[in-house]
Amino acid sequence: MAIRDIHILGSPVLRQRAEEIDVVNDEVRALVDDMFDTMAAASGIGLAANQIGVARRVAVINADGQTFAMINPRIVESSGRDSKEEGCLSIPDAFAEVARPERVVLEALNESGEAIRMDVSALVARAIQHELDHLDGILFIDHLSPLKRQLLVSRWKKDHRNEPLTRTPVPEEPEERE
Ligand SMILES: [Zn+2]
Repeated sequence: MAIRDIHILGSPVLRQRAEEIDVVNDEVRALVDDMFDTMAAASGIGLAANQIGVARRVAVINADGQTFAMINPRIVESSGRDSKEEGCLSIPDAFAEVARPERVVLEALNESGEAIRMDVSALVARAIQHELDHLDGILFIDHLSPLKRQLLVSRWKKDHRNEPLTRTPVPEEPEERE
């Protein structure tokens, strides 16, 4: 198990369509373990394999008390509409309202290679959709109007110029309460 570097906006792997997993073997399980570690270190609620430089269809979620891996995930049903602020570990410090279906039905394999089906809504549904987008090379900023996206990206590039295209997440110390 290991914490991996996270790829940041500008890294080409974030724009790649990730490849299907043929067999859920120990190598895939090791990838899933690293992704859980990396997501926790970065205090994220979701992470896709592209974000650690691996263009394969694997993502992990830890949102609203639900923690799971999804391999070759597919959304087979969606309904409703909801607009909420979103961010991304690969675009640090950038946030914007994104409209998405409020509820989705997910089908995927888990890290044991078993088929799972989940009917989820609200934050978990949003996180799943955000991570599935990553596996198709899509980022949350692509859901914004061209003008909003342009503003956000130009501001972001200004604030983050000369920064490397990968970043090592550093777990935050638990805050001391007075
Ligand atoms: Zn993201």
